[in-house]
Amino acid sequence: MKSEYITKSPEETREVAKKVAQEMKNGGVVCLYGDLGSGKTTFTQGFAEALGIERSVNSPTFLVVRTYRLPDDKSNETIQSFYHIDLYRLNQESEMKDVGLEDIFVNPENLVVVEWSEKLGSLLPSKRLDIHFTYVDDNSRTITLTRHA
Ligand code: ADP
Ligand code: MG
Repeated sequence: MKSEYITKSPEETREVAKKVAQEMKNGGVVCLYGDLGSGKTTFTQGFAEALGIERSVNSPTFLVVRTYRLPDDKSNETIQSFYHIDLYRLNQESEMKDVGLEDIFVNPENLVVVEWSEKLGSLLPSKRLDIHFTYVDDNSRTITLTRHA
């Protein structure tokens, strides 16, 4: 897996997400960063698709946390559930504690993707994969990956 990609379409962003999902088979937390429209939800859709999740993954407008059970053929001894978390509407760390983020992050059965990770503050897990999205032009985005052990 490279540490930087330039994608020229939403489909290419979903393809990058599939590669990342393959590398996350043992669970963990993927933290997405970037402006509105930079491609975080598009990435999350490709990621979920790679996990065999057929229910559509959208921007959770009012829901902060969405849980998807992995289908039997995609789950393994390690991961059972995919969590899509969108912090766009949350402003205080106390609100994130209310949502139970800490418990979701530490559960080894979970694979978690977080949009608006900038907001995590002290809840940012030390072990994580950070992915930064930047808008280049209408159809292009840069995607930069940094692993934190
Ligand atoms: P975010 O979740 O970061 O707000 P979205 O994924 O919801 O962003 O929106 C990204 C928008 O940009 C979509 O309308 C998508 O079709 C468009 N787009 C254009 N080019 C790309 C690209 N290379 N990668 C991802 N999205 C792209
Ligand atoms: Mg989004």
